[in-house]
Amino acid sequence: MKLTILGNNGPYPKAGEACSGYLLEHKDIKILIDCGNGVLSRLQKFYSVNELDAIILTHLHSDHISDIFIMKYALGLGKNNKTIPIYTAYDDQYLLDNMNYNNAFEINFIVEDKEVIIGDIHFSFIKNKHPVDTYGVKAVVNNKKFVYSSDTSYFDEIINFIKEADLFLCESGVLSKDKNNNIMHLTPKDASILAKEAKVKKLLLTHFYPEYKRQSILKELSDDYNFEIKLSEEMKSYIID
Ligand SMILES: [Zn+2]
Ligand SMILES: [Zn+2]
Repeated sequence: MKLTILGNNGPYPKAGEACSGYLLEHKDIKILIDCGNGVLSRLQKFYSVNELDAIILTHLHSDHISDIFIMKYALGLGKNNKTIPIYTAYDDQYLLDNMNYNNAFEINFIVEDKEVIIGDIHFSFIKNKHPVDTYGVKAVVNNKKFVYSSDTSYFDEIINFIKEADLFLCESGVLSKDKNNNIMHLTPKDASILAKEAKVKKLLLTHFYPEYKRQSILKELSDDYNFEIKLSEEMKSYIID
């Protein structure tokens, strides 16, 4: 599988950057995971919207879905359109009512224990600890495992879900110095603890608060890990092997 970071800021972008959007590919299958602001423009540097096979929306916070509300026009008004399946969290009827236009999307709901198979990629989901209905995503093909945390507070049950992932894309939306119980995000340190407990091969951090220096995110990480840790970079691809 190949993962391309279209946007990695949250909950709003710094100048020239974008919010959550991740393109996962295997052979000719293309799945967009989350679709925050800036993602539609970035996606089209690689593919037309029509070429997507499916979209997964991990939760209905704006920094993960805002470009869906214009992508519907790209699909609903354009020529040679197809209807693209969306798999989404469900907890806001107003947003769901406004998501579609001219059958741009076929809307399906994520169910925690129900596998979704797209091409030969097997997707499964875990319910996170976040203020709205939110799911972590696992994609498995040919014994290679990719896990994306989406947004969440720390909880032990997620370790089993992440277990031995070849690539763990984990949010690190808040630094330890700013963390309190009202902020339901992981710190870089939390992400590294989860990765260590789950024995992942590579940890890639994402969901960067625009006011933090990337260096201060790195500073929370110590050197004594036996796996690779990187800060994700927008428009860069990572091979899952
Ligand atoms: Zn977010
Ligand atoms: Zn969120």
